[in-house]
Amino acid sequence: MIPSDDPDTRPGAPESSGPDRYSRQILFPKIGRDGQAKLARARIVLVGAGALGATSAELLVRSGVGTLRIIDRDVVETSNLGRQALYTTDDALVGRPKATALTRHLAAFNPEVRCDPRVADLSARNARELLDGFDLVVDALDNLEARYLINDWAIQAGVPWVYGACVGSRGLSAVVMPGATPCLRCLFPDPPPAGELQTCDTAGIIAPAATLVASLQVAEALKILVGASRDVRRTLLSVELWPFRWIELGGKDASPDPNCVACGQRKFEFLDSPQRGAVQVLCGRDSVQIVPSERSGVVNLEAVRARVRTLYSTKLMEEVLRIEAQGLRITLFRDGRALVGGTSDASVARSAYDRIVGS
Ligand SMILES: [Zn+2]
Repeated sequence: MIPSDDPDTRPGAPESSGPDRYSRQILFPKIGRDGQAKLARARIVLVGAGALGATSAELLVRSGVGTLRIIDRDVVETSNLGRQALYTTDDALVGRPKATALTRHLAAFNPEVRCDPRVADLSARNARELLDGFDLVVDALDNLEARYLINDWAIQAGVPWVYGACVGSRGLSAVVMPGATPCLRCLFPDPPPAGELQTCDTAGIIAPAATLVASLQVAEALKILVGASRDVRRTLLSVELWPFRWIELGGKDASPDPNCVACGQRKFEFLDSPQRGAVQVLCGRDSVQIVPSERSGVVNLEAVRARVRTLYSTKLMEEVLRIEAQGLRITLFRDGRALVGGTSDASVARSAYDRIVGS
């Protein structure tokens, strides 16, 4: 993990712009002065600084939250610029880490918010260190495994989190308030096997889908932060923009499943399993091994190949699928294990696996 830049030492940070900054938001009666004061004390952790995360960060920082920790493992690439708000061509050319690049841009329009960038890959090993002490988690991840980890941490800590995901023109969002609403494992008891879900790197994405989901997430986050929990949407919302349709699953009275492994039985399998989703750097081989979770099941190599073969060079040989993509050689096994050759950087390997194979 790269330590954060200290935002308090940023050169040229302007002084507070006075009471006008939040005046229109304060006029909105559901927020008002009391709500604004609560926002100013709020500590939020945003996990993921891609398309969802960059827009969520902008909305949260403009709204005047107190502290925003931004966790992301990737660097800005040119292919991000078509949809990921705030990033610039210069960020991509330099290859700046998204967490630190985003923090610099956020400081330019609201230096009153303390932004705390962490260039890190959220895992069972560092989850408590990175998440403890925050009032709310906003999920803007590109992989399911880490969402289950956030869910475990949030249920154990009793902290709400806002789920969001998007691919193509479609987005999903839900709010988990421990003890009051269904958690991720109430809705989806286990993550699907690796390679089952589409990713933005294989199915594409349009920018409005990401900004829509980010707006949905931040709207619910604001309700929680000002103490309006009764107004929080309790449904799992699925929106497709092209063609347009939307559906809400569950009802306004949806409640936690007493048999849920996480919130019912309070077994935190993702948080308490350091091996889950483990990444091992193989010495001297310029490659990284990714070990899947115990529950991830058998991978349908043929389906993964069908999805990526028009984009990348692939070769399927009985129990092994080889994919050459973005300068890396991914060897995927039916048990979900993968060797990522061409790098000894665990976060680069994990990121490529999540974006190309999908997990
Ligand atoms: Zn649950």
